[in-house]
Amino acid sequence: MNASQSQWFDHNYYSTYRIASRVERLALYPDYRFLESLMLDNGILPFLPHWQKDSALHKFIRYTADEILESDNDGNRIILFGSDPMNPKRTLPIEAALVLYGMQDKVSFVAPDIPPAIRTEGGVTHYETAVELQDACYDYFLELRLTKTYEDFLARISSEVFHIMFTNRVALQALHEYLSRYVREFRQESNEQDSGYTKYLKEPGILKRTKIPKWAQRAVYFRDRGTCTKCTRDLTGLVNRWSAENFDHMVPLAQGGLNDVTNLQLLCAECNNKKADNFHLTSNRYQNWY
Ligand SMILES: [Zn+2]
Repeated sequence: MNASQSQWFDHNYYSTYRIASRVERLALYPDYRFLESLMLDNGILPFLPHWQKDSALHKFIRYTADEILESDNDGNRIILFGSDPMNPKRTLPIEAALVLYGMQDKVSFVAPDIPPAIRTEGGVTHYETAVELQDACYDYFLELRLTKTYEDFLARISSEVFHIMFTNRVALQALHEYLSRYVREFRQESNEQDSGYTKYLKEPGILKRTKIPKWAQRAVYFRDRGTCTKCTRDLTGLVNRWSAENFDHMVPLAQGGLNDVTNLQLLCAECNNKKADNFHLTSNRYQNWY
């Protein structure tokens, strides 16, 4: 999946902030039960290759968005939507989203009109979505999930959420701390199938140091506005502004950090030297727009 291949995209802001806020919370306070299936069976493997444009954050967002979409479309929320306003269709939120994103011409799933089960308990009336309706939605969603359309939709969502989260260095560092535990635990001999990934390792649990590609340097340089994220020193005047030494792995490689654009920040040479032995925390300090 190439989540951010093209230079421009139109932001539709579909649930962007809701997904971003869930991703942020998961990064800062990992919910191991929720994340279990992401990391199951060496789930860390896709994160290991160096400098993927489909960054660790993109992958994390897709996983989270997928879970959110699943629960949004379980049949408990039926909406009215369609090209004919006089005759809207009963459908699922994701159908409306696919049409709005231009990924589908029209609504392709009409939810059966089954009234909710009504139950009264202690004088309180409860409305419960009929099981048949839930089943119909579940079946539809399961099938949709296997399609290219759904994969493309998740890729779009992940670029949108990435766009607003890339500046959140504190959340990014936390995300990479979470992932680093799995990198440290990864042993090349653990599984025959995983041997293709050993080329990325310097030694068990530690990735090789490799050259940072220009696109990643550029992204981090502009995000951090050419200033040291620690002491705010202006680095734009440097003779070699793309000096590799100013790009710091927030979670160091030696501690299981990834070669990933979302694990980088700008540091001046002095702050970088100071960081060497003690684990430096990043900041969410920004320059005002004006
Ligand atoms: Zn500095």
